[in-house]
Amino acid sequence: MYAVNEKGFYGEFGGAFIPEMLYGNVEELRNCYLDILNEESFKNDFQQLLKYYVGRPTPLFFAERLSAHYVAKIYLKREDLCHTGAHKINNAIGQILLARRMGKQRIIAETGAGQHGVATATVCALMGMECVIYMGAIDIQRQSANVAKMKMLGAKVFPVYSGSSTLKDATNEAIRDWINHSQDTHYIIGSVVGPHPYPDLVARLQSVISAEIKVQLLEACGRALPDYVVACVGGGSNAAGAFYHFLNEPEVKLIAAEAAGHGIDTDKTAATTFRGSAGVIHGSMTMLMQDEYGQIVEPHSISAGLDYPGIGPLHAFLNSNRRAEFYAITDQDALDAGYFVSRMEGIIPALETAHAFACLEKMDFASTDVIVVNVSGRGDKDLPTYIEHFKNIEE
Ligand SMILES: *Cc1c(COP(=O)(O)O)cnc(C)c1O
Repeated sequence: MYAVNEKGFYGEFGGAFIPEMLYGNVEELRNCYLDILNEESFKNDFQQLLKYYVGRPTPLFFAERLSAHYVAKIYLKREDLCHTGAHKINNAIGQILLARRMGKQRIIAETGAGQHGVATATVCALMGMECVIYMGAIDIQRQSANVAKMKMLGAKVFPVYSGSSTLKDATNEAIRDWINHSQDTHYIIGSVVGPHPYPDLVARLQSVISAEIKVQLLEACGRALPDYVVACVGGGSNAAGAFYHFLNEPEVKLIAAEAAGHGIDTDKTAATTFRGSAGVIHGSMTMLMQDEYGQIVEPHSISAGLDYPGIGPLHAFLNSNRRAEFYAITDQDALDAGYFVSRMEGIIPALETAHAFACLEKMDFASTDVIVVNVSGRGDKDLPTYIEHFKNIEE
């Protein structure tokens, strides 16, 4: 019921709304992705790299102090322990194996905060493949550490000066490149966004998260199904991976944390389900923040990974039919939660992940409830932001 249909739709959301020039590229991918993902040799290679390179399975950790505090059983799925510090590498590994099987030698990607760029540059180095990353000139300035990593890994980082010199402009440039190099190039999209088949492809590659949760939870507490799975949603790939194998289990409640920025009633927000409406962004029909003329409204979030004006079509669907419950988490809520979890569990979460933790403050549980929080990434990259906030706390 939550699987994508033949045309790439989840209910009314999804599809492939792309310029004619891009049709061939997307069609080639659509025609082969399921066959390749189902090949034994692909599954083997993917599993081996997830195990020995990424470090999977990531632990499912019983958070004793958080559990005592909230009076429930809280487990943490430790995607922050993946190589490179977040879940994004799962998708990057899967797509580069796919690209090789499609005979592509060159990889392109766009990146905003640089996290997806680093994951892509990492797997290209691993496979010895050419890697070109498009990044807005302003983002390059803001994210110098990630730019340095990509360069160290051997990627070419192309600054994009058009438009607002940020993510959407980098995306346009990447698409232009792909059209001009359709023979030898694969475009790695980093979340469950973009034209069909990308949302389904990325969700399948990230679904290893919920596959592991099921096995690990059964071992930890004698039941494979939690009462709640909580994850943050930027484009929605870590959430899609954490929800995937529970989508058809209605007793498992799915909780999605969106970035409310300064608040959903302000113009500095990225809470798409609260402030958005249906429209087309990056090739799919989904929820996005737009003005009355259909122009994209600049989002705001303290966390770079959630600072996106749309959400993936699967999540738009889960929101519209209430299969998932969406919470709007402000910058302040997230900072407080990040600080609290660090002190309670000795785990400094990414600011994105801190949005998921902040949901725990707003939810009501029974003491027997089992909750899994997907810890999408580690907070090292966010230390400057956290530190700025601590100055205000004045302990
Ligand atoms: C990129 C990122 C996100 C947001 O992306 P999704 O596709 O929504 O998962 C969340 N957490 C971390 C740590 C990230 O790097």
